[in-house]
Amino acid sequence: MNQSHASEPLLLIISSPSGAGKTTLTHRLLDQFGEQLAFSISHTTRAPRPNEVDGQDYHFIDHAAFRARIAEGQFAEWAEVHGNLYGTSVGEIERARRAGRRVLLFDVDYQGARQIKAKRPEAVGVFILPPSMSELRRRLESRGTESPESLERRYAKAKEEIEHYPFFDYLVLNDDLQQALAELRGIIHAELCRRRRLAPSAEALLREPPPEP
Ligand code: ADP
Ligand code: 5GP
Repeated sequence: MNQSHASEPLLLIISSPSGAGKTTLTHRLLDQFGEQLAFSISHTTRAPRPNEVDGQDYHFIDHAAFRARIAEGQFAEWAEVHGNLYGTSVGEIERARRAGRRVLLFDVDYQGARQIKAKRPEAVGVFILPPSMSELRRRLESRGTESPESLERRYAKAKEEIEHYPFFDYLVLNDDLQQALAELRGIIHAELCRRRRLAPSAEALLREPPPEP
């Protein structure tokens, strides 16, 4: 089991039903935390949306390439979500550590969250809730990215996904965006102040020799 210490990035998992706002919140956090925060770029077989950039939002690959990556053991976790395959590369954590990031953010579904937690129990899980089911539907529709079938499938799965909320460490209600962002920032700052992260600083003070007389 890997023990977390100061140079290890905080592993922050963000999950929600589709349309609750995790991509929006994640982008705002990336703006606000800058170099301190890295986003784990997943691989997916889903087709790119018009505003998405390959290698930035996702690595977009076909089914055969995804299956080959599974066979090669290249995923720390993977799952089928809404009829597409999504996976997190094993190299993402190492990349964030080498780049000196303080936080590594995973936007994954509850299946991915469980797999990451099983391997790295110190990871912190945040589940984003919409204010109501009708507002969730309105957001999915207003995003304008889904075919009618995909929208129905995502909405139909929402309650099943929300049922997994007890698995997460924190719940953030994304009604007012600024409020939800402030809460997420608060969670990150608090987690970065965990005793186990800062214990080496305290211990270094205790090891300092007394001043010369
Ligand atoms: P997810 O990544 O969870 O599927 P998105 O971030 O794509 O969700 O958000 C879905 C839609 O809802 C987008 O059009 C986004 O602009 C909108 N949205 C996100 N958060 C809020 C909010 N707090 N209030 C109103 N609309 C929001
Ligand atoms: P979307 O197609 O809306 O970008 O994402 C659909 C769902 O797939 C979301 O719940 C998102 O969190 C999840 N997802 C994205 N990347 C990954 C991943 O690498 N692994 C897992 N398990 N889920 C992911």
